[in-house]
Amino acid sequence: MNMIATDQTIVVSGLRKSFGPLEVLKGISFSVQTGEVIALLGPSGSGKSTLLRCLNHLEEINGGRVYVNGQMIGYREEGGALKQLSDKTISAQRKSIGMVFQSFNLFRHMTAVQNVASGPRFVLGRSRDEAEARALELLDKVGLRQKASSYPGELSGGQQQRVAIARALALDPKVMLFDEPTSALDPELSQEVVATIKTLADEGQTMLIATHEMAIAKGCADRVFFMVDGEMVEDSPAAEFFANPQHERSRQFLALHT
Ligand code: ADP
Ligand code: MG
Repeated sequence: MNMIATDQTIVVSGLRKSFGPLEVLKGISFSVQTGEVIALLGPSGSGKSTLLRCLNHLEEINGGRVYVNGQMIGYREEGGALKQLSDKTISAQRKSIGMVFQSFNLFRHMTAVQNVASGPRFVLGRSRDEAEARALELLDKVGLRQKASSYPGELSGGQQQRVAIARALALDPKVMLFDEPTSALDPELSQEVVATIKTLADEGQTMLIATHEMAIAKGCADRVFFMVDGEMVEDSPAAEFFANPQHERSRQFLALHT
């Protein structure tokens, strides 16, 4: 029921989203295989953030279908129409989808380890000891084991973002969504976040990363999706996208960003 047989982690077909009269996603279709890393590129306002938000039902959609791990997100089919799932079911679906935003969104009154342990403790009901032991492993993975007891205010922007990444990983998501993870950072701090994302890519974490940071697109991505005005105008292997962009707008974008 509402399952599709697939080895694709993400399948999106004919996704449409409007805000009032403004159509922001105009029938987007793509799929992402397990272990693939996608860089989602495109000019400001092209719909990248909205697309990511539709993937874990932070936005209601106006048409099409979104599947993650073979499960339709946010809705079930009923007589050919979409009916929204209960809040409880949607929360359960979101556990398998990690999201990292431009602004790090850490809990200011919690230490790094408490931030990372918060999902397992309060969402999954793990014991404090178990959640914090796992959180320390994740802080180690992002290179911040020694900052476990620091509060966000005591960390640099790059360190805060790496804690936010560890926190998203703590629920063992099948897919990680990143929305401009380095845009709020100075170039040198952004490099440490890029390195963390690269580590995850090498480990086979499925990721969809909206970014203007070409080091992520070139160093981490298997494929590039390029969006313009709510349409996906290019879906190419990353090496091909950079060597030989197919779309006029992709060429203009690369001229500006590389
Ligand atoms: P990008 O992330 O590529 O910069 P966005 O998805 O943020 O693009 O925005 C795409 C378009 O949708 C823009 O025109 C933006 O102004 C509009 N938009 C985004 N969110 C909302 C909203 N909540 N209400 C109205 N318009 C929105
Ligand atoms: Mg955006």
